[in-house]
Amino acid sequence: MKKIVLPSLLALGLNFGAQAQKLNPTEQKIAQYIDAHFAQTEQLLKDAVNINSGTLNTAGVKQVGDIFKKEFEKIGFATTWVNLPDSLKRAGHLVAEKKGKAGKKLFLIGHLDTVFEKEMTFSPYTYINDSTITGQGVNDMKGGDVVVIAALQALQAQKLLDNATITAYFTGDEESAGKPTSVSRKDFIDRAKTHDVALAFETAVGLHTVATARRGASGWSLKTYGKTGHSSRVFSPEMGYGSIYEAARILNEFREQLSSEKYLTFNPGMILGGAEIKYNEGKANGSAVGKTNIISPETVVNGDLRFLTETQKIRLVK
Ligand SMILES: [Zn+2]
Repeated sequence: MKKIVLPSLLALGLNFGAQAQKLNPTEQKIAQYIDAHFAQTEQLLKDAVNINSGTLNTAGVKQVGDIFKKEFEKIGFATTWVNLPDSLKRAGHLVAEKKGKAGKKLFLIGHLDTVFEKEMTFSPYTYINDSTITGQGVNDMKGGDVVVIAALQALQAQKLLDNATITAYFTGDEESAGKPTSVSRKDFIDRAKTHDVALAFETAVGLHTVATARRGASGWSLKTYGKTGHSSRVFSPEMGYGSIYEAARILNEFREQLSSEKYLTFNPGMILGGAEIKYNEGKANGSAVGKTNIISPETVVNGDLRFLTETQKIRLVK
C-alpha cells in the first residue's frame, strides 16, 4: 500500500492492508482493486480539491459535482442534479442512484462545497511531506466523497452491487445551507426516508472510528441581577447576595445536576460581573468595572450546549 495520509483513504487502505490476513477471498479482491487503482483515486481527489467550491461559488460546486457524476456513471449509477430556486443562491445537489432488489437500501452522504470561498487565498492540493496532503476540502470532505466513489467502484468490479439499492447524495451547500432549509433539504429528506441505512462520510474522530450520531450545538446566556450597595451589607435581608454569587450558584447547580447527563456538555465560555458591565455580543468580548467593596448588580455568562438529540435539548432547556 502506498503511504499517504488522506484520513479516510488511509482508514480504508489500512483496513484492507494491515488486516489482510483476516479478509475472506472476496474482501481480498476488493482490497487488491483499491490498491491497484490508488493512483486514479488520488488523482480524482486532486482534481476535486483543485477546483474552488466554496458554498457561494455555485459554478465551482457544480464543476466538482460534474467530476464525481462521471465517476458514478462509469459504474452504472443514474445521476440527477437537483436544482434549487435562484433565490437560495446555492448550486444544488448531486444524486447518484442504483436500484436493486436485495439487501438494505443504503443512503451515502457527502458534500461538494467547502468553507473556502473564492475570494480567499486558494490553497491547492499539496504534499506537506511524503505522507500528508493539504488543500481546500481535502479533509472536509472531498476525501470522504472520493472514499465513497472508490469503495463503490471496487464493489462494482467484483459484481457485488448488482442487486443493491444505493443512493449517494452529495449536497452542494452543507457548509452553509440555502435558506429556508425546508426548501434546500426537502429532496434530501424525502429520498433519505426511502432508505434503511444512512452513512455519512464526513471525518469521524481519528481513524478506524465510526460516529453513530453527531451532537447538535446550541448556545445559552445567563443574566443575573441584584441590588447594589456596600459590601459590608452583603447577605443581609435587604441586600441579598448580589449578582455574582447568584450566577455562581446557578452555574454550580447546572454542573451538579447535569454534568453526568450522557452525551451532554455545556460550557460557560465567558463571565462578566461587576459594578458596571458592557458586553459586546457580536465580538464576544466585554468589560467590567467594579470594586471589591461594591455588591455587583449585574452578571452575564455565555456558554454552549452540545446535545445528542433535539428531544434531549428540549428536556434540558426546560
Ligand atoms: Zn463537511
